[in-house]
Parts: sequence; C-alpha cells; structure tokens
Amino acid sequence: MNILIFGPNGSGKGTQGSLVKKKYDIDHIESGAIFRKHIGGGTELGLKAKAFIEKGELVPDDITIPMVLDVLKKSSSKGWLLDGFPRSIAQAEKLWDALQKDGEKLDYVIEIKLPREIAKARIMGRRLCANDPNHPNNVGIPAIAPNGDKCRVCGGDLSARKDDLDEEAINKRHNIYYNTEDGTLAAAYFYRDKAAEAGFKYIELDGEGTIDEIKDTLISQLA
Ligand SMILES: [Zn+2]
Repeated sequence: MNILIFGPNGSGKGTQGSLVKKKYDIDHIESGAIFRKHIGGGTELGLKAKAFIEKGELVPDDITIPMVLDVLKKSSSKGWLLDGFPRSIAQAEKLWDALQKDGEKLDYVIEIKLPREIAKARIMGRRLCANDPNHPNNVGIPAIAPNGDKCRVCGGDLSARKDDLDEEAINKRHNIYYNTEDGTLAAAYFYRDKAAEAGFKYIELDGEGTIDEIKDTLISQLA
C-alpha cells in the first residue's frame, strides 16, 4: 500500500497520516524526519540540506529526491505513506518518473483541503500543556479551546511554541503550499489528474472538520 498525503501546515495532516499508517501497518515517511536523519547522521546530502533549512529555504531537488527515494526503497514491504513530499510540481514529476521506473504503484493520494487563513489561525493558536504535550489546546479551534489560559484537559499552564507564532515563516511555508502554478497544490493536482488513468484513488478531505470527522471520512474512503 503506497500513499501520498497533501495538506497545509495546520491541517492536521500529521495526525491523519498516523491513522493511515496504523490502519495498513506501513511506514510513515515524513520529509522532515528524512532531513533530520540525514543531518543528524552527518551525511553529505544532510550537510548540504542543512544549509538551506537554516536559511528557511527549500532544499534543492538534487539533494531531496535521492534522500526520499533511498528511504522509500528501504521501507516496509507493506508499503509507505509519504508525507511532506513532493512540495513542487517539479518534484511531483520526478517522483512520478522514479516510481514508474521502479515499478512502484500508488494506491491513494490524499489531499486535506483547508483555506489558507484558517490554516494560519490554527498554527498560531496552538498551545502546549506543561504537563502533557498531547493535551489538545488551540485558541483557533473552538472544539479544543483552552479553559481561559489553562489546559482544557488538566488545568496545566500553557505556552506557545516560538515557531508557531512566527508569522513570516508560516507565510513563507504557505506561499509554497498554496501555489497552484508550480508549488505544492500544483503537485497535488498533478496526481489528481493522473489518478483515473493510472488506477489509484484521489481522496479529497474537508480540513475544516474536527480531527474525528476528518478521520471518519478518510477511513470510509480507504479500502
Ligand atoms: Zn494538560
């Protein structure tokens, strides 16, 4: 079972990806983790990637694609869920060609749709509980709004991650994601247009629902 998942930062893509991973017992390959692994391991590709990440820039394809393909090849025989890649139309095309060449078929491509302003409000609204990072608190999502300025689950103190309040960085990431010309949405649409002919299913999910609502819709559409 080989799956691609698309969704902007703030759409709950990571959470839904974890559910899919569990359902099929496949490897959840998250592009950030690929970078961290290579950078942590001090590989040549990792060192090159690091310089770009530190500037907040996209890592060039000639560094990223070999890393991704390497990890896909070493993944579980049950398959993989690729999350956070491809991010551009160029990467989408190169990945497609590489998969065709390797005889790897895609089963599903999932797109979580969420308006840009809502995605941004959700990122900036995240609050972290001092007692348990898994306690959900978000001032931008009514269903999990904190209790005043305390954790809605345990009453613990809340804080915001510095990255989550960095509006410029969020805008930069969203500029890439929401670009329908040659950015990440263009990559998603590249696969959407291939789906019928190539025999995989393209699943569009409404990201404005709660995590459980999105999960239920997703599960109902997967075999
Ligand atoms: Zn808590």
